[in-house]
Amino acid sequence: MSVLFVSDLHLCPSRPVLTGLFCDFLREVVPGNDALYLLGDIFEYWAGDDDLTAPFNAQICSALKACDLPKFVLPGNRDFLFGADFCAATGARLLPDEVVHDIAGTPTLLLHGDTLCTDDTAYQTFRQQVRGQAWRETFLAQPLAARKQQIEDLRRRSEEQKQMKSMSIMDVHPQAVADAFHRHGVSAMIHGHTHRLNTHQHQVDGHSCTRYVLGDWHDTPEGGNYLACDTHGWQRKTWRP
Ligand code: MN
Repeated sequence: MSVLFVSDLHLCPSRPVLTGLFCDFLREVVPGNDALYLLGDIFEYWAGDDDLTAPFNAQICSALKACDLPKFVLPGNRDFLFGADFCAATGARLLPDEVVHDIAGTPTLLLHGDTLCTDDTAYQTFRQQVRGQAWRETFLAQPLAARKQQIEDLRRRSEEQKQMKSMSIMDVHPQAVADAFHRHGVSAMIHGHTHRLNTHQHQVDGHSCTRYVLGDWHDTPEGGNYLACDTHGWQRKTWRP
């Protein structure tokens, strides 16, 4: 029994080294494991499933499809527009925003992590808007080129705003973490989003709880971090070709 977790790859055509690293990971590390979890922001952005015709997206999706094991994908804040065609192209199952899976006998909460950053109220307001069904339908009804342009504009503005936000605003809020453990009645959680690779212990409802934060890949193209759970327990690993 061995399950792998990655997140925040931020794959895009302008990062060929990263793309190669991830495709090698899929070919050389993933086979032989029992499941692969991708916990959001696999792509730098996803404008809609009709963008599957783009050669870069097709390349990544077919590399995923070639991995013959159960694959699970959580929506990130950049690729929440995955739909049925993405699932068909990759063979992955799309998970809801928060889900508890049994990982080696431990009920474990899986989420991207952006919902835990509750101090960033501007982002949470934005998120609430764009994750609604009405926004999704209206947005996806626009031509692909127009959607991509809007996303590019948003990304540029978001980068500008990030420079002005304090580091603590962009991290998870302890109360949101405690609430998530409490809400799901679990003592283990895995998320990404903050790119702050670490393992944290929390006391919630008198229980000791563990929170595994995955790191990103795009700032460390020399090696990709992942979390593995197997018979030896939880292990942090770095994939270097
Ligand atoms: Mn994210």
